[in-house]
Amino acid sequence: MNKLAKTKIVATIGPSSWSDEILTKMHNSGMSFARINASFAKYDELKRVADQIRNISPRISLVLDTQGTKIRVKGLEREIEVKDTFTISPIPGHGVDVTYPNLHENVVVNSKILLDDGNIEVVVKKIENQDIICDVIQGGILKPGKTVNIPALNLKFPTLTEKDREDILNAKKIGYDYVCLSFARNKNDVLAVKEILGDAKVKIISKIENQEGLDNFDDILSESDAIMIARGDLGVETPLEQVPIMQKRMIYKCRSVGKPVIVATQMLESMRENIRPTRAEVSDVANAVMDGADAVMLSAETSTGKHPVEAIQYMNKIALSAEEVMQASPIYGSTGAGEYIDAIAKNVCYLSENTDIKSITVLSDSPRTVGSITRHRPNVPVYVVSSSIEDIRQNNLFRGVKTFYLQDLPDDRDEAISKAIECIYTYGELDLSDKTAIITGSSIKNNNMDTILEVLSIKKILD
Ligand code: PEP
Repeated sequence: MNKLAKTKIVATIGPSSWSDEILTKMHNSGMSFARINASFAKYDELKRVADQIRNISPRISLVLDTQGTKIRVKGLEREIEVKDTFTISPIPGHGVDVTYPNLHENVVVNSKILLDDGNIEVVVKKIENQDIICDVIQGGILKPGKTVNIPALNLKFPTLTEKDREDILNAKKIGYDYVCLSFARNKNDVLAVKEILGDAKVKIISKIENQEGLDNFDDILSESDAIMIARGDLGVETPLEQVPIMQKRMIYKCRSVGKPVIVATQMLESMRENIRPTRAEVSDVANAVMDGADAVMLSAETSTGKHPVEAIQYMNKIALSAEEVMQASPIYGSTGAGEYIDAIAKNVCYLSENTDIKSITVLSDSPRTVGSITRHRPNVPVYVVSSSIEDIRQNNLFRGVKTFYLQDLPDDRDEAISKAIECIYTYGELDLSDKTAIITGSSIKNNNMDTILEVLSIKKILD
């Protein structure tokens, strides 16, 4: 395996990456999260890919991305040219239909409608019964099934579509690690997913992709386990030039509460075709890393693109290079882990910058504790040792975390530390001359809330 960046890589799986050989190469090159888009997969497919990936490595996390409330062009049999005027209508022969029923009751004169990811722009001129008659501002060729976005209009979608409900249930049944809630609008949307998941060990990534999601970001963040900055739809639903600013703001907010954040979409877009990314794409990935993202995501680059393995390799190389020049950066705010843990986490990062400790070792499955440490972006690795493979896969989303599975983690604290260090050492991660800062509960046996920070020499532990 190559040297892997602290920043994690989420890769979308599709026809380009369906073979064991490609998936193995992608994993060895840095993919630790495999995203399957439910828009293009039914139960059998979700199960097949899950089994295949679990076979390649039980360490790869499975992420199911829901379709959400994306509106699309419906019933169009072949491409058409959109120019001068354009009519949206459910009545055959009147115009082009869309998947949102009764759209004429929601739009008003002057509403802007964007088709095909914003490549075609029309504005409502008049509404006659069910027909929405529009002036074409930017024309183009419209193909069947293309997207329809109506920015600044809060359409009345149900909290979750039937398809999303079913897909979330399937993800739970199959044992996916994360589900993505597309077009998260408010905290009720997240709570609805939580209700479906019940006590299943599946975490929720809320995708921020429209103005409503941005307006309610703090509430959404407080109920979610992680956030995805879904720049594809965000760049159509809100002013494109605002996306980099929103990206920085959201990353900062996620870091301040210690929850992982993924930057997504078009990061290495030209690699769908080309073997090398553009300079601007390289800069985009590096800037997301420097902004402090926990993870960066590839979509079509790895699902349908020509160079899925090389795309991961570039992501990893760019992230490594950006991380090399970064300093740890303390951040303020409460994570919800508790004031002692937040204070200890801040101090351990201070230690890692100002003493000779070479790593931080955490013996806790709590994502709150892990997030409380990694949000300061320490420059040393954060080893998380756990006897739960699900926790390993989920905690792996935090930047800088290296996870280790230990089947029998002893109840006794001292014994647990020895076993954990032995395990990390066996993987060649530690040197006998190193010191590590260990964070554990005060007594693994009693499993109480107190936390101990201790600096220990590897040699002494292993002697
Ligand atoms: C996006 O819009 O940026 C995104 C990640 O969502 P999807 O790929 O599901 O459209």
